[in-house]
Amino acid sequence: MLIGQGIDAHRFAPDRRLVLGGVSIPHDQGLAAHSDGDVVIHALCDALLGAAGRGDIGHHFPDQDAAYRDIDSRILLRRVMVSLTADGLAVHNADLTIAAQTPRLAPYIAAMRTCLAADLQCPPARVNVKATTTERMGFTGRGEGIAAFAVVLLDEQES
Ligand code: MG
Repeated sequence: MLIGQGIDAHRFAPDRRLVLGGVSIPHDQGLAAHSDGDVVIHALCDALLGAAGRGDIGHHFPDQDAAYRDIDSRILLRRVMVSLTADGLAVHNADLTIAAQTPRLAPYIAAMRTCLAADLQCPPARVNVKATTTERMGFTGRGEGIAAFAVVLLDEQES
């Protein structure tokens, strides 16, 4: 087995959709980013790439590249999975934590698990998503943005 971890954070910005874990969430602001700003998927991609020993998301999908402007982060996640699958790697499980003071994310957790599991090609039971506030401390607590943390285990398939 191979383990990887990933961390990402983005600032809130007006006139942006809020997309977390591939799910659109109604909110008065979204996250500033070159892509759609899905911090959950970005942290997850970094964890996957980390486990595979393949660097990081910025190396594979540079944010100076116009091709990735406002891109659906699920496309990036699926591309990461294509390269891992080609190397005989499969997701054993993933555990994700989102730090956000607002909005309340509990109603969207199940949808995120379903969505991410589809892209990770594993059962939703193997993709855990948690959300926490930081008790109004730090940049997430002050409502400046959202952070996400991911840990994954990959199985190496017998060839
Ligand atoms: Mg990011």
